[in-house]
Amino acid sequence: MSKYVTKQRRLLLDYLTEHADETLSAGRIAEDLSGDGISVSAVYRNLAELENEGRLHRAAGSGKEQSYRYSGAESCRGCLHLSCTRCGRTFHMGRTDANRLVNAVAEAEGFALDRAETVLYGVCEACREAKR
Ligand SMILES: [Zn+2]
Ligand SMILES: [Zn+2]
Repeated sequence: MSKYVTKQRRLLLDYLTEHADETLSAGRIAEDLSGDGISVSAVYRNLAELENEGRLHRAAGSGKEQSYRYSGAESCRGCLHLSCTRCGRTFHMGRTDANRLVNAVAEAEGFALDRAETVLYGVCEACREAKR
């Protein structure tokens, strides 16, 4: 791996860490990083690599463009994520509630939820209130 590729990847990871838990379209990431001299194709290639490595998750987006969510932060470990489909913000479900949900699914379905891979989609409190 060339030094140049490594630098692009590090810049991308820095960016993703800054925007941890946000739902970001590939286009927006490319646009934000264009100032750092990273080409659009390099951004897409690195995003695909990180996804293959399981460090980046595809997010269910409303648009046709591919969106991603990065939860590499230490604080994300063992958390269940709630993602708002209106504002794109992501929240951590309280640990007690998350445990209750995981245990309920395990008991009722005999199914062990993978917390790192599980995202619950819906509308957050702020967006629900804005609609009223
Ligand atoms: Zn998180
Ligand atoms: Zn929202």
